[in-house]
This record gives sequence, C-alpha cells and structure tokens, in this order.
Amino acid sequence: MSGHSDIVLVDEKGMRIDGRTAEEHRAVKIEAGVLKNADGSAYVEIGKNKVLAAVYGPRECHPRHLQNPTKAIVQCKYNMEAYSVGDRKRPGTDRRSIEISKITAEALENVILTGLFPRASIDVYIEILQANAGTRCAGLTAASVALADAGIPMKDIVPAMAAGKADGHVLLDLNKEEDNYGQADVPLAIVPSTEEIVLLQMDGNMTREEFDRAIEMAVGGCKELYALQKDALKRRYTVDGEEDDSDEQ
Ligand code: ADP
Repeated sequence: MSGHSDIVLVDEKGMRIDGRTAEEHRAVKIEAGVLKNADGSAYVEIGKNKVLAAVYGPRECHPRHLQNPTKAIVQCKYNMEAYSVGDRKRPGTDRRSIEISKITAEALENVILTGLFPRASIDVYIEILQANAGTRCAGLTAASVALADAGIPMKDIVPAMAAGKADGHVLLDLNKEEDNYGQADVPLAIVPSTEEIVLLQMDGNMTREEFDRAIEMAVGGCKELYALQKDALKRRYTVDGEEDDSDEQ
C-alpha cells in the first residue's frame, strides 16, 4: 500500500485495470464439501485468489489446558502456501498468518453456538493456494461455508469482503495492484441477518466520508457474497449435487 504510482488504476471513465467499475467485486466461485476426510470443507475463488478451507470438530480439545468448561473454542490456522505468490513465500507461520488466524477465529466465534459444546475444539484450516489481495476475506468466506458443511450449529454464515481507495477512488474488493499502489484497504465481515460487523481492519488512510462509503460498499459486497455462499450449500445438499462417496477408501 504505497499510495502512489505511475500506473493508472482507475481511468477517466471510472474503469479499473481489470475492467471492473468501482462497485463491482471480482468473479466469485464457491464450492462446498470438496474434501472427503474433513468434517466440512469449501473451495473459494475470488478473482485470482484460490482458497481451501477445512473444518474438524467439534472434537475433544487438545491440549487439554485450552479446554473451556462452558463452551467450545475455535482454533484457526491460516496458511499461505510458498507457491501462492509471485516470489516464493517463506513457508510456515509468520506474524501476518498469526494475526489473520486470530481475527478469523474471533469473527467465527460470533456465529458458532460454542455453548453447545463445552470442552470441545472446532478447528478451522485455511490454505491460500493462490493469492492476489483479499485472502483474509476469501479465507473467512470459505471457512464459514466449511463450518456449515460440517453441520456445526451457527447463527448465520459470515461473508467477508474488503473495500478501499486507489487513485483517489473508493473501490470494492481491491486486487493486488490496487492493494499495492492504492491508498487504503478496509477488510470487513458481517453477520448478514443482523448486519453486525465481526471483522473490521484498516490499512492506509482515507477521509471519514470515504471510510463511510467504503463500509457501505463492503457491506453490499458481503451481501452479494452471502447469496453465493448459500447457493453453494444448497447445491451441495440438493439431490443433483448429492455427494458421491463411492470412491471412499
Ligand atoms: P490480504 O491477502 O488479506 O489482502 P495483505 O493485505 O496482508 O492480506 O496482503 C495482500 C496481498 O499481498 C496478498 O493477498 C498477497 O497477494 C500478497 N502477500 C501477502 N504476504 C505476502 C508474502 N509474504 N509474500 C508475497 N506476497 C505476499
């Protein structure tokens, strides 16, 4: 997020470098139940981002000292693969992945009925296979579909999308160039049924008015994503989309 560049990110007609208008998000593909051996799973593409989420649980929490006698804990591991970005990323946990794992678990704790499963752990794994800005949002979007696919009781599912500012324009769902050379990025996640905000971060600078517009755009984007999350779950559990377990070992 350098805030200045020679690249024109938004042309005089208001078009972005990937042909989108300010209010348009990237193409979205969501598939639920893609892994046989996890309790729940989902695959999500948002533009060039490719993300896999897998869920195990509720199961007995290990190590035991993490157990909460009143509710389940939600443990999340966000991992960006070495091959997910242009230059090979150093594999393994870093400060960024610890931060994203924490905010993702906290967002999901708002919707999971953890009180039903004392002492248990619900484990969420997010693998970023290909990254192009917005992976924390794509990861959270995939994770909540995977939780629903696992049959974990929840108040709602959580869509997440960022808005931001590039070339002085407030834009929905920044791509990598807009994220790199733009002025601000505001990832957001909501509980659609209540419009409660369960994740909100900001990188960069914008005015109060721009911030309000970014929130409005991101909430709109989340609602569109929510419809696609529900479609993916419906496809998974309708007769046509019925899971074929015949190749199970
Ligand atoms: P998000 O992916 O949620 O937007 P960031 O703003 O931290 O998170 O990262 C923006 C983008 O920068 C990522 O989607 C990815 O394309 C790239 N990126 C992040 N971390 C690395 C890294 N360690 N090496 C190379 N590229 C990275």
